[in-house]
Amino acid sequence: MRRVAVWLEGPQEFDELAFMFFLLSTNTVQTSLLFCFPNSPDNLRYQDARTALKNGEDICENHYDVHIFITAEQIGSNLFWKTHKNLAQITSSTWNRSFSPPSLFEYLVHSVICASTFILAGDMDTHDKDTTGCQFDYTQTKSHDRIDIALGFICADHRQQISKQIGASYLADIELLASFRWLGNIEESGSIASRLRAYFGQDLRRDSGYRKRFLERIQSNVDTLWFDFIKEIFKGVILIITTYALIVFGMKDSKSPPTNAETAKPAAASRSGPSGTPDTSSLPAGRSHPPTRPGA
Ligand SMILES: [Zn+2]
Repeated sequence: MRRVAVWLEGPQEFDELAFMFFLLSTNTVQTSLLFCFPNSPDNLRYQDARTALKNGEDICENHYDVHIFITAEQIGSNLFWKTHKNLAQITSSTWNRSFSPPSLFEYLVHSVICASTFILAGDMDTHDKDTTGCQFDYTQTKSHDRIDIALGFICADHRQQISKQIGASYLADIELLASFRWLGNIEESGSIASRLRAYFGQDLRRDSGYRKRFLERIQSNVDTLWFDFIKEIFKGVILIITTYALIVFGMKDSKSPPTNAETAKPAAASRSGPSGTPDTSSLPAGRSHPPTRPGA
């Protein structure tokens, strides 16, 4: 298990607690990477960490295998993230609200997985000439990263390199993380997606992951009110149908056929059976046979 420390450096464009819940949720579904957020006294910055490495100093007493710094500042000319030895810097500045879905949270986790894998592998390249759909594309057109995140795909070449350089179980775990299957169904109680919405107000089917603007917060509350209103209407309709059914079947019961004791009638009254066949037992003898022809 590798420890991956994450620092949120400077003001962020997202709800930090919600993102922490989102990223730390991945610790519950795999064992290759343990993500963690160091406590405040270790409020390290990317440049300080680089300087420390340059001077041959330890970072956090070598407690972590990977050090990741998430910032809203631009990196280089137009990068999503970059790595230096066991340090990585990831920015939200080149992602865009209009790219969602997938959300900013999914983009950040995708970047964290990619940067961690590059650092741990040590000798791995990107697809820098084209967009292949692989997690390790170098997407010059930023919006193409939407495709990679949506696919969750790792090409055969990268699968082989990761398996050889880090291990097969690591590969299996990051394939699970990249698929986002661990989020579960948002309508299912207890799933990570439903808890993210219930506790942190992020519905990744429609929220961008960016800190919500005033109108977006209003919209969310209005939707909740509508949902409650429709729920009450539905309960009312069920109540009416149930009441109606009880009344109708109750009336039917009061008109139900008499019991066996009431059907015990005199023999004469039972001449006609259910099929209307006359009871021949009381007819004069011979009448039930065709009359014989004289002389036959
Ligand atoms: Zn690939």
